[in-house]
Amino acid sequence: MKFCDLGLNENTLRAIAEVGYETPTPIQEKAIPEILKRNDVMGIAQTGTGKTAAFTLPMIDILSNGRAKALMPRTLILSPTRELATQISECFQKYGKYQKLSMALLIGGESMVEQQKILSRGVDVLIATPGRMIDLCDRGRILLRDVQVFVLDEADRMLDMGFIPDVEKIVAKLPMMRQTLLFSATMLPEIKALAKKFMKFPVEIRVDPAMSTADTVEQFIVKTNERGKREVLRHLIREEEVQNAMIFCNRKKDVDILFKSFTKHGFSVAALHGDMAQGQRTETLTAFREGKTHLLVCSDVAARGLDLPDVSHVFNFDVPVNPEDYIHRIGRTGRAGRKGRAFMLITSSDFKALAAIEKMTGQKIEEMSRFSIQMDPPAISKNKKRKSSKRPKPSIKLKENETDVKKEKVKRADQTVASLKKKERKGQKTFKQSIFPDPSKIKAFGASMPAFMKQEVKIS
Ligand code: AMP
Repeated sequence: MKFCDLGLNENTLRAIAEVGYETPTPIQEKAIPEILKRNDVMGIAQTGTGKTAAFTLPMIDILSNGRAKALMPRTLILSPTRELATQISECFQKYGKYQKLSMALLIGGESMVEQQKILSRGVDVLIATPGRMIDLCDRGRILLRDVQVFVLDEADRMLDMGFIPDVEKIVAKLPMMRQTLLFSATMLPEIKALAKKFMKFPVEIRVDPAMSTADTVEQFIVKTNERGKREVLRHLIREEEVQNAMIFCNRKKDVDILFKSFTKHGFSVAALHGDMAQGQRTETLTAFREGKTHLLVCSDVAARGLDLPDVSHVFNFDVPVNPEDYIHRIGRTGRAGRKGRAFMLITSSDFKALAAIEKMTGQKIEEMSRFSIQMDPPAISKNKKRKSSKRPKPSIKLKENETDVKKEKVKRADQTVASLKKKERKGQKTFKQSIFPDPSKIKAFGASMPAFMKQEVKIS
């Protein structure tokens, strides 16, 4: 199937050709005709599948007829984060190049004066985060009764971030006669309930998340202990051909600690988490996109959904609590036709979470044992603790009565740690060289469609 078979107008097709897309991705192939038919669409797809173009392209077509009135946007897109909202606005600019569209971006952390001026003249496309939107509605600076298409992007993320009550308030202000498009990476019962409430007979289009990363991302686990995590990670980064990488932590506190540690060890690194000011977040992302920083330590909330096309590696410093987050995290690499590698550090308390991930992805993640070090003993349950007065030691040291075999293993583990330290001292140079890889090894995106985008899409 080609883009010209989907019913899009000439202007949009010209813009697509200029961007260099040759064939539509499965979600685009199925969603674009349905959106053009003005059906409600429920898209179950994660970022990296081409879902943003799947809704922006037909919207640009729909908007080619008619004009916006003052304070009354014709379409509304709600996005959970400022970064995602910005990316969506960039797509409208790119794909709407040959069509005169007015657009406003309402995101927290940036001055509203300019956006309000644009709004007062009337906009075709309004892209907003829920908080900023509520703010403006409450002040009567915007009227939503002319919205013809409403998009709720990353609905599951909205749920995670506690935005659903805000979203419901906004939807209550929309006209009943409208088209609703809802996108979510997962189909949780809460999302199903939302779809039922907001949509009329939606067409469901699903891209299986378990499959969509498998083709292009090689996944590994590396065993470690709590104390050795940072050291193992540094070793791993120096030994792998890291061009640039995202490193995920479960807690903001750990993002800061890891960032400081990398800085101390001379790495080119930046941190990204939800508590940072908008200006700082934008600056950090731009520097990372432009290759000025090579490592980005981040939390899930800050990073999910961002389109950072050149990430060669993803490192899971912590095993994510929700298996879905693992899919999102590793989806940051292996994008746009390139090969990516994803590593996850595993301690003795992570096996349950690892099993949940493997169950969800339907595949066993191979251990990269040459980087693994001795794990801590498994945590002792409360009952057992009461019987023994001794606290389990978090280190790899042995108790008096351990067998010789075990002692030998520990000795070897100690040697491994020592050799890691030694390699690390030597390794600074290797890393600096490896972050500028042979350009011939990087596959450009364009004519060749990424394999994961070619998967079968179910439609019901
Ligand atoms: P998204 O899932 O919207 O985050 O898109 C992921 C990446 O795929 C972005 O870098 C898009 O520019 C790219 N992309 C979207 N549609 C296509 C297509 N039909 N062919 C090639 N690349 C695409």
